[in-house]
Amino acid sequence: MPLMITAECINCDVCTPECPNEAIAMGAVHFEIDAGLCTECKGFFDSPECQNLCPVDCIVPVQCV
Ligand code: SF4
Ligand code: SF4
Repeated sequence: MPLMITAECINCDVCTPECPNEAIAMGAVHFEIDAGLCTECKGFFDSPECQNLCPVDCIVPVQCV
């Protein structure tokens, strides 16, 4: 399940350069994750690296509804 960035994002840009799939980019209001590119860092890190680094914990799994 890909991850997403919530409105709590403070646009610090810490996560962007660390994404192995270049799935993170600035959106209209805050940074956003391209769900089609996010692989939860499989093959690169043991856990989602953006989630590990985010200072405000605003990166969460996309909920399937
Ligand atoms: S979980 Fe990994 S692949 Fe997905 S957006 Fe975060 S850093 Fe990129
Ligand atoms: S690390 Fe967190 S707060 Fe910083 S830009 Fe990424 S999602 Fe936003």
